[in-house]
Amino acid sequence: MAATSDDWSTRHSVLSNARRTAALINALSGTGDRQPKPKAATDAANTLADAVADAVAEVLREYGESEPVELAADDVVRMRAAALLLREVFAAEDVDAAAAALNRLLAEQTGPLRLTSHGGGTPWHPHLDSHDDAPWDEWFLTSSCLALTVLLWDHQRPPGGLCASPACRNVYITSGPGPARRYCSRRCATRERVAAHRRGQRTPDTGSGDS
Ligand SMILES: [Zn+2]
Repeated sequence: MAATSDDWSTRHSVLSNARRTAALINALSGTGDRQPKPKAATDAANTLADAVADAVAEVLREYGESEPVELAADDVVRMRAAALLLREVFAAEDVDAAAAALNRLLAEQTGPLRLTSHGGGTPWHPHLDSHDDAPWDEWFLTSSCLALTVLLWDHQRPPGGLCASPACRNVYITSGPGPARRYCSRRCATRERVAAHRRGQRTPDTGSGDS
């Protein structure tokens, strides 16, 4: 047990787990900042798969996963399928739709709630996967469902959303008080503001009304 319990509670807070979910979905969707573009069309598929695997491992390490973080190609394929399922929660229009999406996942994809201390290595905490050595995709899907469920419960609003930039497919976690957020990052917000400004200058009478 190298980590102190303060480290542990920060790294393993519900919010931190939810942010890890969003970061993993974005890495697995292959559209985030972390993916280098494949150089040649011939090995594009392999290059992209490797890049996605690297990006996923990087996110896992960033959120405190202990080494070695080893992901087989199959793991990444199955994690991508899990990410697609989780996207439905982020795409929900309102809290009722987000709850319905989570209820579907909780009914069809997760096991019963259980407590684990990983053999005494961590404080007791809840899991929805079948056992502590469950495959990556099962762990990813079930830990994400748990974190998003608790966030929805706590804040009574959708736990996250899809970036409003048409050029971006990232998801984000809504956290903290304040106005509802629309973009995954400051970068997307700035880009869209600049684009809206340019549209306004060039075509002042054809506003889309959806900036
Ligand atoms: Zn974005």
